[in-house]
Amino acid sequence: MKLAVIGAGVAGSFLSNMLQKSGHTVTLFESSKKESHWPVCAWGASRHMLEYFSKKAGLDFDNYIFHVGKRLKMDLPNNKSEYLELGGLVTYNKKQWESDLISDVNIVYGANCDKRTFPIGDYDYIIDCTGFHRSFLPKPKEDFIIPAYEYMVENVKDIDEFHVIGYRGARGYFWYFPLEDGTGFIGAGDIDRKYLGIKEFFDSHPNAKIVKKIGRPIRLSPPKMMEPFSDKNIIGVGESIGTVFPMLGEGIIPSLLCCEIFLDVFDKSTSNDTKFDEKAYRDKVLKKFQYYYDVYRIVRLKMDGKLSTVKHFNLLLSMYKNMKKDEKRFGFEIDFDKMRRLVNAL
Ligand SMILES: Cc1cc2nc3c(=O)[nH]c(=O)nc-3n(C[C@H](O)[C@H](O)[C@H](O)COP(=O)(O)OP(=O)(O)OC[C@H]3O[C@@H](n4cnc5c(N)ncnc54)[C@H](O)[C@@H]3O)c2cc1C
Repeated sequence: MKLAVIGAGVAGSFLSNMLQKSGHTVTLFESSKKESHWPVCAWGASRHMLEYFSKKAGLDFDNYIFHVGKRLKMDLPNNKSEYLELGGLVTYNKKQWESDLISDVNIVYGANCDKRTFPIGDYDYIIDCTGFHRSFLPKPKEDFIIPAYEYMVENVKDIDEFHVIGYRGARGYFWYFPLEDGTGFIGAGDIDRKYLGIKEFFDSHPNAKIVKKIGRPIRLSPPKMMEPFSDKNIIGVGESIGTVFPMLGEGIIPSLLCCEIFLDVFDKSTSNDTKFDEKAYRDKVLKKFQYYYDVYRIVRLKMDGKLSTVKHFNLLLSMYKNMKKDEKRFGFEIDFDKMRRLVNAL
C-alpha cells in the first residue's frame, strides 16, 4: 500500500518503521526542519515497554538509556513529600531513538501538511500522527488541553532523581527529569499558567544553564472524547486521538500502544486485501483506553474542587485496579493508600 504518515513524533516514527518493514511504501511528512526537529517531551517512560517496542522495531533500547530512576520525590501542597519507588522509569535519548527508527524511511522535513492542500487521493491511507495538532481529522466536540513548557538544562550537580511538585487541585505539576552528566529537563504543565517551581528551581540552582526552551500544550481528553478516529482514508494514531494518560500527561507509551492496535488491524486488513476495518480499530482503541475516561473525570473533578474520595470511590478504584494491572507499563509502584493520600493532598 502507498501510505503517508504525517508527523515524525513517537507514533509516526514507530509506525513508519514497522509499516515499511511489512513492505508498504511509506512517506513520512514532518512540519519541522531536519536541523530543528525536536521531540517536545521530558523523555521519561517505562524501560520495560520501550525495550519491548525497540525490539519490535529492530533497536536495542540499552543504547538509548540516560538515567535509571530509583525513587521519585513528590512535593505536595500540604508541605509534605511522598516518595514513589520506581520499577523501570527511565529517561532516554528520545531524539536519537526516533531518528534511528526512521533512518531508512523516506521522510520529507519542513512539510507543514494541510488537509486542504495535501494530495490525499494519491495515497491509500493517510495516518494522522500529528499529536496535539490533529491536523487531518475533524475537530472533536470537546477537547481538553493543558499548557506546558520546559527547559533542557545543564550543569545541575545536586539532583540526580526524578522530582515532581504537585499543584493544588491537580491543576498541573512541575517536573525535574534527570538525563545524564548534570543535564535534565525542568518543566511544568499548568492549567493556570503559573508554573510554580520553575523560577524557584533557577533561584536554587544559579549555575544551571539553559540549553533549550521548548513547549506545546498536552491533550488530556481521552479517546472517548476524541472521536472520530478516522475520516475516509485518514486514520488517527497517538495523541491526535487522545491517548495521553490524563493524570500524568504521560503520552509516549500510550502512543506506542495505540500504534500496536493500529498495526494489528491494518495487518489483518492488508493480508485479506480488504479495506481498513475502522470499526475494529475504534472498538479496540476505546476498549484499551476505556479507563482513561475515569482518570480524566478524576482530574476534572479535582480541578473543579468536586472530587470526594468517598463519593467517587469507584472512579479511584478503577484507576487503581487498571494501573496496578499494568504496573510495569508505568514503571513505578502502584499502591492504593498512597494514591488516595496523593489525591487527597492535592
Ligand atoms: C513539555 C512536555 C513534556 C512531556 N513529557 C513526557 C514524558 O516525560 N513522558 C511521556 O510519556 N510523555 C510526555 N509528554 C507527552 C508526550 O510527549 C506526547 O503525548 C507524545 O509525544 C505523543 O506522541 P505522538 O507521536 O502522538 O505526537 P508528537 O510526539 O507530538 O508528534 C507529533 C509530530 O507531528 C508533527 N506535526 C504536527 N502537525 C503537523 C503537520 N500539520 N504536518 C506535519 N507534521 C506535523 C510535529 O512536529 C511532531 O513532530 C510530554 C509532553 C509535553 C508537551
